[in-house]
Amino acid sequence: MNLLKTLDEQKIFKLVLGLGNQDLENIEHLVKIYCEAGADMFDINPSKEAVETVFNTIEKSGKNIKNFYYSISTGLTGDVHTQKCSINTDKCKRCGKCVKKCPQNAIVFEDKYPKVVTTKCIGCRRCDNCKAISFNDTKIEIENIVKIATDYKLDCIELHLSAKKIPDDEIKYIIKNFDGVLSLCLDRKHYSNERIKKLVNKVIKWNGSAKFIIQADGVPMSGGDNSFESTLQAVAMAHLVQSYGTYILLSGGTNEKTAELAKMCSLEYNGISVGSYARKIVKDKTKEEAIIEAKKLIEACKK
Ligand code: SF4
Ligand code: SF4
Repeated sequence: MNLLKTLDEQKIFKLVLGLGNQDLENIEHLVKIYCEAGADMFDINPSKEAVETVFNTIEKSGKNIKNFYYSISTGLTGDVHTQKCSINTDKCKRCGKCVKKCPQNAIVFEDKYPKVVTTKCIGCRRCDNCKAISFNDTKIEIENIVKIATDYKLDCIELHLSAKKIPDDEIKYIIKNFDGVLSLCLDRKHYSNERIKKLVNKVIKWNGSAKFIIQADGVPMSGGDNSFESTLQAVAMAHLVQSYGTYILLSGGTNEKTAELAKMCSLEYNGISVGSYARKIVKDKTKEEAIIEAKKLIEACKK
């Protein structure tokens, strides 16, 4: 199987397990449902444990791991996607609001105070409306990411670029040292039209062609609702990049309405990546109910 060839032939559905999601039980639960429901690709936290959990779950489900595509996703140190929440208990009023807001069940009460389970935190900042809450950077080493992707023969490395500085050296390092496909995740919040043009033209030059993916991210980690409004920025972002001739996946606020909106806007694209909404619709459901929901989402995304 060749990822770019498949993208030439059909639109794909990629399940985003969550860049910061190191909760192996949750990863297993999601992969079990989405490999059964017809997902084409899985986007995984860049750790050996997470990759092995995805492979083992697919095999245990009676499927062939070679029938799916895989990417590992990373941001660089300082990128919002790589940050983890922490709580200062001295400032905490123990109101419990953050627990209710967290979509990952990453905040739990322990000894009367809330505590963050960092392996579950994806840095979405839905809890970030309180003086007791702050965010810490995770240290990211690009060499290690490339090694994991190479060792496990993964199809793609996705680099989130939600930071002020464009990491030229890291992009060049991936192009030089990784045999698979490069994907750059660009969000509308951090990229003006001019900044997109500068970056994409540079990468086309370094890569020798436009044969890489741009994940057109509306507002990162903003999904959860099934409305045109949440998916609007992803479609707008894809519109801006479609003239460069790269492959395009839509993400960031994507849902069952994304393909419909893209069609209304006559958008050329190669697939849809869904994270927050895909995870939300299968939460707290039986396996059978969850598979029905997941199939509905995948069908809507691929039509
Ligand atoms: S961290 Fe903030 S939101 Fe959470 S329980 Fe404490 S005061 Fe409430
Ligand atoms: S709401 Fe988001 S940022 Fe806050 S703890 Fe949960 S996953 Fe982490």
